[in-house]
Order: sequence, then structure tokens, then C-alpha cells
Amino acid sequence: MFKKDIKNEVINNNLNREIYGKLLLDIRWLDFRKRILERDKNMCVVCQSKTNLQIHHKQYHFSELSRTYKKPWEYNARYLITLCKKCHDKGHAKYKVPVKYIK
Ligand SMILES: [Zn+2]
Ligand SMILES: [Zn+2]
Repeated sequence: MFKKDIKNEVINNNLNREIYGKLLLDIRWLDFRKRILERDKNMCVVCQSKTNLQIHHKQYHFSELSRTYKKPWEYNARYLITLCKKCHDKGHAKYKVPVKYIK
């Protein structure tokens, strides 16, 4: 395993456990989330289901400067897609969300 992979692993774990749980209840996220859902016509972009919808981040951006992740609502909307829980879980089981290091 490469050093960079280990670093990603640590970051991903911290991200999921600590940060996201709290942030996803933030009003700024709820507003942003609504915008994405409306853009995707309140449907999963994979199977068109309209139930158990979730928003998926296609990339996570980590700032080298502040040593933190962007807040979920700070992303450009093109990095976010609407998925139903089933497709979302399937996607995460199959692919790891890439972490992009930004200044
Ligand atoms: Zn789906
Ligand atoms: Zn996701």
C-alpha cells in the first residue's frame, strides 16, 4: 500500500465518522441539497426511483492549506448527483470517492 493511499484512508474515515454526520443537518446543506434534487427532478439519476433519495458527492476536496475538507455545500453543483439509497450504496461498495487535493 502506498503512503498516499494510507493518507486517503485516514482522511476518508475521519470524514465519514465525524464531519459528515453533523454537517448534513446544517441548513446550508439542506438548502443546497434541495437545489440538487430539483435539478435532478427528484429522481435517482441511475434508476429514476423517487424514493429514499440521497445526494452523492462525486469527489471530495481536501484543502492542503487549511487541512480540512470543503463543506458539503461548498462544492460546485456539477460534483453532486441525486441517487436513491440502493444505487448510492451500490456505488459506494464498488467505487471509492476520489479525494482531490486543493490549495
Ligand atoms: Zn437508483
Ligand atoms: Zn455518496
